[in-house]
Amino acid sequence: MLSGKVAIVTGASRGIGRAIALKFASSGAAVAAVYANDAAGAESLVETCCGMGVKSAAYRCDVSDFECVKETVARIKSDFGTVHILVNNAGITCDKLLAVMSEQDFDKVLDTNLKGAFNMIRHTIPVFMRSKEGCIINVSSVSGITGNAGQANYSASKAGLIGLTKSVAKEYASKNVRCNAIAPGFIATDMTSAIAEEQIKGYIPLGRMGDADDVALAAVYLAQAKYVTGAVLTVDGGIAM
Ligand code: NAP
Repeated sequence: MLSGKVAIVTGASRGIGRAIALKFASSGAAVAAVYANDAAGAESLVETCCGMGVKSAAYRCDVSDFECVKETVARIKSDFGTVHILVNNAGITCDKLLAVMSEQDFDKVLDTNLKGAFNMIRHTIPVFMRSKEGCIINVSSVSGITGNAGQANYSASKAGLIGLTKSVAKEYASKNVRCNAIAPGFIATDMTSAIAEEQIKGYIPLGRMGDADDVALAAVYLAQAKYVTGAVLTVDGGIAM
């Protein structure tokens, strides 16, 4: 399905990013796995991808660092020859009520979740231009659609990501570059490990948390959906309807 394609997946060492990278690899795509700290997680992912018969390598890079992203994308282009798919999945939370949220709490979430995606897109777009095709998938959140008490920083970053998605989709549609977002609800990963499913399942129409593979399936769909751009695909058990 994706054989011959080269995909960059940020935040691929764990959770949703890892599941997306594995599903891309099992669909035949080569995978450049970007991570921040978890080298062991990234290396084990690469080993599994290579075991599926696709090329894969790991790159340590803080996506909020413009220069580091520039160098990393250049290294990936040199190692893989080109890039066809970019998944901006790296993200963090720093949940607090607004009254006790510091400037640093706000900035670090925006810098990773929103500026990180901008940095990756900014440096990958020239590669897409040269190859005359590209697919960007930004991992947003239902929090960016509905808002969420205690997540002013996170919700703002994820809403911003939806605006970024639609603007990039409009700006680059004529260049055969598509840009879409996925808005997951509660997905069982390290990020949500402190949340008890029992406490939240009453708010979820499908009555349970999702798993990372549910989101990965949406990413594989968007990677192949040649007539879909500027869309926000919720994978949330019905929360946002
Ligand atoms: P996770 O398990 O906490 O994994 C986060 C990933 O992001 C890790 O691979 C981490 O790398 C990477 N990362 C964090 N900061 C980074 C940085 N500055 N530069 C590069 N990589 C960085 O989270 P997850 O649940 O899989 O979430 C993945 C995405 O889905 C996030 O954008 C999140 O906001 C979004 N999302 C999650 C849920 C959910 O319920 N889980 C719901 C909606 C949206 P290291 O391992 O190296 O630290």
